[in-house]
Amino acid sequence: MGNGTKSLVKQARELAARYRIDDGRKFQLESIDPDDTGPFSDDDKSKAQDALAAGVDVLSELQDKLYAQDQWSVLLIFQAMDAAGKDGAIKHVMSGVNPQGCQVFSFKAPSAEELDHDFLWRCQRNLPERGRIGIFNRSYYEETLVVRVHDELLHRQNLPETLVTKDIFTQRFADIRNFESYLARNGVLVRKFFLHVSKKEQKKRFLERLEDPEKHWKFSAQDVKERGHWNAYMDAYQDVVRQTSAPHAPWFVVPADNKWFTRTVVAAAVIDALDALDLSYPKIGASQRADLDRARETLMRE
Ligand code: ATP
Ligand code: MG
Repeated sequence: MGNGTKSLVKQARELAARYRIDDGRKFQLESIDPDDTGPFSDDDKSKAQDALAAGVDVLSELQDKLYAQDQWSVLLIFQAMDAAGKDGAIKHVMSGVNPQGCQVFSFKAPSAEELDHDFLWRCQRNLPERGRIGIFNRSYYEETLVVRVHDELLHRQNLPETLVTKDIFTQRFADIRNFESYLARNGVLVRKFFLHVSKKEQKKRFLERLEDPEKHWKFSAQDVKERGHWNAYMDAYQDVVRQTSAPHAPWFVVPADNKWFTRTVVAAAVIDALDALDLSYPKIGASQRADLDRARETLMRE
């Protein structure tokens, strides 16, 4: 790794550390200002965009090694209120990576088939293979967010009645913590992002969607309805971070009122995560080297 890359990785680690939560027990959502731009002032926007572009290159190098080594896999989970910029963050941050080594799944309201299974089932079957980066655009965390805010959804999940008690969300948090420990012990590196947008900025983005015909498709009347439950969602998000942050599966609560900053922080956190794996291209042994030599001779004789 060149010196330029080393210093970029160091900067990425420092930036990501500002928003990383390994122990969420005392986490207060108020402590993160959605409009925060960390070390960058508004005039630094282009500096941050340069850092993002350089970061995308580093990410591409790291992903190549991840794929070649074929041991670890990386699971990136994105959660947010509507219009917080999940799709844009995913698109920009992953723009340089080889599509063969990357897979994105978007989890919507569960289908009838999905409701016929336990809540982790649909996520479990879409986990990234070794060597890959898997992205969950929404995830099993919806089971402690939308389902918590809308009690009626819980009662439509076909669960045996005796299991739907006041403890159900406490139990789901415990199950999620166990699942993420299990993943970590199996070589799946988990990183979770809550893109924290303000209610004011969401209104601005919704109005933009309504005004711009090219953005109409992104608008759904349901999103405005959900906005009516803002405080309940914020309480639920705070609880998620409190209950499920861990050193092996940290949450990053990323300020999301400035898209350029959100993307820079997410890229930084992914670079930091991959760098910490200390990846290298697989080295070959003596017998494989002899095979290569023989292959070269065969080709040269042609
Ligand atoms: P997004 O809203 O993520 O940008 P989208 O608009 O393309 O994507 P939607 O059809 O709105 O997709 O699907 C996402 C919706 O599905 C969200 O409102 C989310 O709360 C809901 N959802 C996801 N998982 C669950 C779940 N387990 N139970 C109930 N609803 C869920
Ligand atoms: Mg939607």
